[in-house]
Amino acid sequence: MDRREFIAASAGVAIAAGLSSCRFPAAPKTKAGGGRMTLSFRPYELTLAHTFTVSSYSRKTTPGVQVEIEWEGLTGHGEASMPPYLGHTVESVCAFLSKVDLGRFESPFLLEDIMAYLDDLSDGDSPAKAAVDIALHDLVGQTLGVPLYKMWGYNPAKAGPTSFTIGIDTPEVVREKTRECAGLYKVLKVKVGLDTDEQMIRTIREITDLPLVVDANQGWKDRAKALDVIFWLKEQGVQLVEQPLAKERLDDTAWITERSPLPIIADEAVQRLRDIPALKGAYSGINIKLMKSAGLLEARKMIAYARAEGMKVMVGCMTETSCACTAAAHLAPAADFCDIDGNLLITNDLYKGMIVRDGLMVLPEGPGLGLKNV
Ligand code: MG
Repeated sequence: MDRREFIAASAGVAIAAGLSSCRFPAAPKTKAGGGRMTLSFRPYELTLAHTFTVSSYSRKTTPGVQVEIEWEGLTGHGEASMPPYLGHTVESVCAFLSKVDLGRFESPFLLEDIMAYLDDLSDGDSPAKAAVDIALHDLVGQTLGVPLYKMWGYNPAKAGPTSFTIGIDTPEVVREKTRECAGLYKVLKVKVGLDTDEQMIRTIREITDLPLVVDANQGWKDRAKALDVIFWLKEQGVQLVEQPLAKERLDDTAWITERSPLPIIADEAVQRLRDIPALKGAYSGINIKLMKSAGLLEARKMIAYARAEGMKVMVGCMTETSCACTAAAHLAPAADFCDIDGNLLITNDLYKGMIVRDGLMVLPEGPGLGLKNV
């Protein structure tokens, strides 16, 4: 889709969503060569290659919103992805974005001011804020002519592997999915948390010896049983466990973490920077996702904070196009573990950005996010 079509689609969405406008008119230029940022957005539903099941739900699509910010002849791309369990919707994201007036800021370089302004507009709406943050970072990188990883001083050769996720399913489907991806990745992430955990792992082990990580998505109920399973998982070549118990059960999680032979990583229990202090001691590390953290600016603060507390850093994603996944991948050199496969799980990606080669993430070298249209 070219720019004209994007804007036309955005206008259509505004009408469909009952919003007065989702594209701000170009404000008069304030000085020669200077100009205001303009924001536009449109819903874009992501189609999953396979029905995706975790311990609490199944789905075949994920609602999303694509964002563009134009400034000085450049276009920054951003994206909001809204997996249903977080309570955000296309309507809530569009309603938030329609309140955002970037025209009040001189340039995308005022990232701190702009993100503080977005937080003043509402307490939640992290995916919508992430979309703006990602597009602003894209603009900043494009203006400076450098990829984001370079702007932050990260070594792209340290981007490392990403895991590829296998959802909970019947042994036949798990076998088929494992066969499909075993040769392409260096680590597989397995969703567990129902009473089929052992069967899931044994089925995968019929096909491959690849290292595994598991994500219980709060599915385990009994801490002692969970710990037994974790010891068994270690014997099966599992490297870490994500969110074993309900996020509220900090004391029980701390009990497991103290005794666990594997790192225990918080996912549902951590959204933003302000959530980390309470998790100290209860988890070995945190899974940072841009749709939770409200974007890259705060994600980088979360990495710094976690490091200062001696916690491990995982960078993950939701189901997203290569726009938000590539944004997350630019953080990969600073992470211990990456699970950035959202773009690989969909059939209607819009961009080419970070790619996986021999199981390792390869960051694009273009400025900003480094995205190209598919
Ligand atoms: Mg998770």
